[in-house]
Amino acid sequence: MTFTEKMQSELANLGSKIFEFRQHLHRYPELSGQEYATTEYLSDQLSAEKIEHQTLSGGCGIITKIFGNTHKPAIALRAEIDALPIDEATQVAYRSQKPGVMHACGHDAHTAIVLATTIALHRLGSPPFAWRSFFQTSEEIGNGALEMINNGALDGVGGVIAVHVDPNRDVGKVGITPGPRTSFCQDLTIEIIGRGGHAARPHTTVDPIATAAHLITLIYASAPRRTDSRDPLVVSFGAIQGGHASNVIPGEVKLEGTIRSAQLAVGEQARELIQQLCAATAQSFGAAIRTSFRPMLPGVINDPILTAVCTETARALLGRDAVETNERPSMGAEDFAEYTQRVPGCMIALGSKNPGREITPLHTPQFDIDEGALTIGARLLGTVVSGSAEALQQKG
Ligand SMILES: [Zn+2]
Ligand SMILES: [Zn+2]
Repeated sequence: MTFTEKMQSELANLGSKIFEFRQHLHRYPELSGQEYATTEYLSDQLSAEKIEHQTLSGGCGIITKIFGNTHKPAIALRAEIDALPIDEATQVAYRSQKPGVMHACGHDAHTAIVLATTIALHRLGSPPFAWRSFFQTSEEIGNGALEMINNGALDGVGGVIAVHVDPNRDVGKVGITPGPRTSFCQDLTIEIIGRGGHAARPHTTVDPIATAAHLITLIYASAPRRTDSRDPLVVSFGAIQGGHASNVIPGEVKLEGTIRSAQLAVGEQARELIQQLCAATAQSFGAAIRTSFRPMLPGVINDPILTAVCTETARALLGRDAVETNERPSMGAEDFAEYTQRVPGCMIALGSKNPGREITPLHTPQFDIDEGALTIGARLLGTVVSGSAEALQQKG
């Protein structure tokens, strides 16, 4: 039997376990940085299989030992384990048991896929290549990957592979494109400090609401005309807070937003522009404006060699037409980028749409997947591990 055949038969031996894993995780979602029960559940599953692993010092997230031929750089499989502050609106039997918390980004699916693959790989014994898995905390708030790296997730690792469900793509199809896959992302907070007073006498105040309204309009109008329109850039504000009564001008307004760009330089240019516009607006309105920018999260770059291995594997498993290889990058962000900044990586977009149903987008209360994606994801990851390890060795 070839490695692929052995792997497929180990996965088949797991039967419906992968669905049980996913449904358990889906029932009991936990927010970023609070995945204690999820971590315990995963640790129990790994321990039951005698798979050596460590839990992160903070109690959230797990890294397995490196198995196989540890003289060679390992291929790591990565899953994220956090859920979102969303109230689930589906009627599935395994819907979230926690009001206001939901696995609406498919991280339950990724975790089930990597857990099943880990068990199957481990049961295969000592392969000629090295591998490990890790289960990452806090992807949705963008700082979990660094925490994993600081806890040694990439030590001894030469390449990292992950899947992300894609609700726009039919189950059975995947997207594997080399090069940039997600945008550079920089979140920002703008505090506008004015002077409150009676809404009937605005001249006695420094109105932070009027200042904020002007500032947002100015940024939205200016950013696309001050950066090269051939280079994608998005600036969006998702939160605005200030005031509590119709007839009182508040003292302060707070804005929270995000800058997304396909290139690092464009993101930096947009940050400088926003600072200039804030300074100019502060002067125009007599308010004080403070800006703070979170560290820039880089874009995910799919390594050409690993991407080629994943593509060939996916074609062999799913058929040539099932694999799309030339898709435009997303303006979304993904902290998998922290890994691809350090070692070659590949993120596979895993079709999860049931062809007979409407699309249910990520991060919505209606989000759901066709569970057929689970076994496909595990078969794919289980097989690409060996090919990727080989490809890296030839390269290195
Ligand atoms: Zn998400
Ligand atoms: Zn996600």
